Order: sequence, then C-alpha cells, then structure tokens
Amino acid sequence: MAKIAINIATGSLQQEEMIVGIDLGTTNSLISIIHPESKRPIVLKEYDGAALVPSIVHFGQAGNITVGDDAKKYLIAEPENTIFSVKRLMGKSYNDVQQQTNFFTYKIIDDNSESLVKIQVGEKFYSPVELSSFILKELKIRAEHILKTTVTKVVITVPAYFNDAQRQATRDAGKLAGLDVLRIVNEPTAASLAYGLGLNKDETKTIAVYDLGGGTFDISILRITSGIFEVLSTNGNTYLGGDDFDASIASFIMEKIGVSNDALNQNKSLAQEIRLKAEEAKIELSYNNEFEGVVDGKVLLITKNEFEQLATPLIAETIQCCKNALTDANLTIADIDEVIMVGGSTRVPLVKKTVSEFFNKTVHDTLNPDEVVAMGAAVQADILAGNNKDFLLLDITPLSLGIETMGGLMDVLIPRNSKVPSKAARQYTTQKDGQGSMRISVFQGERDLIKDNRKLAEFNLTGIPGMPAGLPKVEVSFLVNADGILVVNAKELRSGVEQSVEVRPQYGLTDEEVEKMLLDSITHAKSDIQTRALVEAQTEATQIIDTTNLFIQKNNDLLTDNELADTNDAINTLQKLIVNGNKDNIQAAIEKLNEISRPYAERLMDSAISKAMKGKNILE
Ligand code: AMP
Repeated sequence: MAKIAINIATGSLQQEEMIVGIDLGTTNSLISIIHPESKRPIVLKEYDGAALVPSIVHFGQAGNITVGDDAKKYLIAEPENTIFSVKRLMGKSYNDVQQQTNFFTYKIIDDNSESLVKIQVGEKFYSPVELSSFILKELKIRAEHILKTTVTKVVITVPAYFNDAQRQATRDAGKLAGLDVLRIVNEPTAASLAYGLGLNKDETKTIAVYDLGGGTFDISILRITSGIFEVLSTNGNTYLGGDDFDASIASFIMEKIGVSNDALNQNKSLAQEIRLKAEEAKIELSYNNEFEGVVDGKVLLITKNEFEQLATPLIAETIQCCKNALTDANLTIADIDEVIMVGGSTRVPLVKKTVSEFFNKTVHDTLNPDEVVAMGAAVQADILAGNNKDFLLLDITPLSLGIETMGGLMDVLIPRNSKVPSKAARQYTTQKDGQGSMRISVFQGERDLIKDNRKLAEFNLTGIPGMPAGLPKVEVSFLVNADGILVVNAKELRSGVEQSVEVRPQYGLTDEEVEKMLLDSITHAKSDIQTRALVEAQTEATQIIDTTNLFIQKNNDLLTDNELADTNDAINTLQKLIVNGNKDNIQAAIEKLNEISRPYAERLMDSAISKAMKGKNILE
C-alpha cells in the first residue's frame, strides 16, 4: 500500500514525501537524499557541481538577505553585515562566548550576560536561531529546485556535545525556515550510518569518529548496541582545524620570501594572497610531493616534508584529545573496533597516517569527508520514512512536552520525536521575595505560546520556605516511561519539598489532531517566534528595570542628580516600550539604560571593594 502524506506547505495530500538530511555546518552546509534507484545516499549538487553552501548570511543596505557564496563575497569588505560561524553561538549566552569575541567581526550584544546572545546588524537584532533559519531556508529552496518537489521534512545533524538548549535552538531554526524537523542526529552517529555501521541489529561495536574540519576538531567515541547509538565521550578543540595549517604555512611563506608581520599589517591584499596561497599549497601537498607557486612576484617552493613538519604539532594536539576521549570513556585503543574520518582536513595524508597509527587500525576514508555527515543524515531520514524495512523504528513522543514559563511561553523539556523512555530536567526559580508556592502547568504541542498548545496538567508546589526572589532552586523533571505515561515532578532543592503528577499525554488525541497541531506550528512559525522574541525582550526589560530601581534606592545618596534623572528617563522610556514597543526598540532601550547605569555601577563597585579591603586584617 502506498503511503499518503500531507504536504505541510500546501496542506494538500501527496503520494510520498521525500525526507532530506541536512548537515548544518559551522562553515558549510549540505543536503543529502537516498537516491530512489541506487538506494545509496547522494549529496544534492547545483549545475556547477557545487554541493557546499557556505553557512554565511549577508545583510544588504536595502534590507535584502543573501546566503552562501553570494554572502561570502562580503566577508572582507563588510564584516559587520556578514555573519559567519553562527553555529558557534547557538544556544549560548554572552557569558559563554565573551572570551572569543575577537573571533567574530560582527556585533554581539552584551547587555545582560545571563540571557542568550543576540547579533546586531544596523538597527536590527537577530538571534542565532533566526540567522540559522536563513541558511536552512536557502537549503530548502535549493533542494526544492533540484528535486522539483516541496521539501518540508528533514533530519538535521548537530555535534555530539550540543546540549539541550543548542539542540532546541536548531529545531527552532528549522521550524522558522518552514521545515518539520523529524530528528536531530549527532554528527558522528550520522558519519557511522553513512558507512553502514549500526545498520546490523545484532552487532555491538565501539567506534571512534575523528572530525577535523576548517576551524574545529571533534573526536567522539560511540557504542552501537542493537542499532542504538550511545555517545561514550567527546573531546576536541573548537578552535583547531585546517585554518591553523594554513596559518602555519603562511608564516613559513613569509619567512621564505622575506615579508615581516609589520609589512603584512600594512598590506591587506598581500596578507590575503599569502593566506590563499598557503591553502592552495596545503591542498596540493595532499596529492604531490612538491608545491610550486608565485607570491608577491617571487617563486615559491614548498616540499611535502616541510609542510609535514609544520603540521606535526597541530596533529599531535588532536591525538592528545583522542587520548583524553578514550580515558573519559574508560577505554583503551584495543577497545576501538572502527575509526571514521570526517572533515576536509582529514585528506592530509599525515593526518590519516598518524590517526591510523595511533588507533592501530585502517581508517574508514572512502567516502568524501566533507559529505559523509550529510549522507548519514539521509540514511537516518530514510529509516524514519520507513523505507529501510530491516530497521526497527522505536517508540517516540509525537508532540513536544513542556511547561509554562514567564509571559505564557512554552518551555519544551522533551521535544517531539524523542525516543521512549525519555527523561529531562530543568531548574527554575521564584520571581517574588518570600514566594511560598509555584504553579507548574504542563503542556503538549509545538507552538511557542502555551495558549495555542494542549494543557495536560497543573499543580502547585507548596511549602517553599521564605527566601529572596531568585534563590529557591526548583527542579522540574519529566519522565515518559515505556508505556507512554508522563511523570512530572517538581522539587525545591534547598528544602527538599516536592510534588508530582502523572498523565497520559496521548489520551484522547487522534492522529488527525496531531497532524493538525504540527501543521499549525509550521504555518504560524514566523509570528510565533516573533511573539516569543517580544515576550522575552519584555521580560528582560522588566527584570532590568526592577534591578536598576533596587540599585538606585539603595545607593540614592551616592549618585549625582544628573545620573538619577537620566536613569529615571531611560526607565520611563523603557516602561512605555514594554507596553507598545517592538523587540528591536525594547532591546535598544535596554542597551541605553545599561549605558547610563554602567559607569556608576562600576564606580560604586570599585569603592565597595576598596572599603572592604580597608576593613580586612591581612594575616602574615
Ligand atoms: P570542512 O570544514 O570539513 O569543510 O573542511 C574544510 C577544511 O578542509 C579547509 O581547511 C580546507 O582547506 C581543508 N581541505 C579541503 N580539501 C583538502 C585537501 N585535499 N587537503 C588538505 N586539506 C583540505
């Protein structure tokens, strides 16, 4: 019997829908499908043969947005309008990335170190989710163009070390791009599937996946038991990759042709020429013993031996990470059954040789290392489509499960399509001083506002001892057991008070209703995410006003009249915008209030520290 699917874009029925696999990479992204005849994964290519879409977004003066190679052209000329490496910012707060802000050439907002990062381009503020959605939308358009059919159902890969927030951010980006994200798959799992590992149900294997790309290095140790993948450990360096090989060759070239660092700083086009020549040399030396080229009018010769000496310390660093990963997994080299090479930089013969010698094994390197993750995503997509009959589909949760948070937003704890049994927990705190109870409302659905989702249960956690706002730690945990029953537990960790409830989320819910809820979430994705961004900005603004008011009350006599007047003005403006502003002007007003309060907050902090120091007895 043929399968009938709903085309989510048009709402009409169609015979069969293709599910595509997407590798949403830090530098490049790719789409792959299982070829209908050969049944092998293939990467979708444009007429010119290009498969890679650079993960870069450019914002033009006229408000036009471009993605991919067209955006890449602006990297040097318009760094503040050209966003690259957005994957590094997914699900991150400013606190997480402030050490690396030199790396980014665009503006990352640092107004509130606790909240998620935003990127400012001109007058607008974008979240990493929105930026990633532009890339995914472009991939969707390309796939539809090549396949000549609508594409809505996808599998997207993420690094094995991505946490819940980063995985959820990736799902949201897909939703915003009009995609139905059926599954988030770990990149090393996808690479293993592309090589056919894990497709035999009776097999138990331990696999090391070595992934050296342009800017990042990851090593993951996986165990497959009866077709189920488990990540035993991950290690790596998020700032080590092929770019570092290029940088060492570039310094070597400068020495050879006699160019100083100062001279290079003065001459940006020479710097660019040397960098490009370095990469060209590296790539050629993967296939030849010598590279000959011309730089700055001078003939240049680099031998494979010279390159290998430069590369050795960098490769040694990756091997150290492999050792750490083995230790963390409580394993030795002898426990590893298979080694898989992923990422463009594993084409360097010395990399292959060193890794193979370290693990004492021939490595898997027959598939294109740039494409292997996307290909594995396509294999997973095919399994979900039910085309791979040998493969058991596990029970999954058909709709996301979560609770209501500030401003009526849905906070998902267990995303839809999670395998059953499944559990998740998250911590929350109180809003008011002395708050003795907390209401926990449990919802099911894909929409951002709980009012559009299905309420499953509600209870009050009472008996929380009186504490200042923000101090209690209430852990809410969800457990969906093998029978599909959801147990929700809330526990205040300082006092130990707890309460729980049990529900059967699927009770009274038909397949048609599930399908409708999914359809609605895709149709309303854009307005939903906009509303969420507005509610989040309003909540952040209210919190900042409360903190600032508290601060000026306490330190009233230490502030000048001007400082007080400016602060009150900024608070009034922000208060009005909370009622009738949009997320961009609320964000701008938060920035303004921070700019006004920062100097006196720092001044008072300094004097408080010096006062405290004076009062201290220093022991000898
Ligand atoms: P990825 O991030 O996986 O696309 O890897 C890109 C990196 O692989 C870049 O640093 C490229 O310079 C590098 N690369 C691509 N092809 C080769 C090659 N044949 N030999 C050495 N490095 C390569």
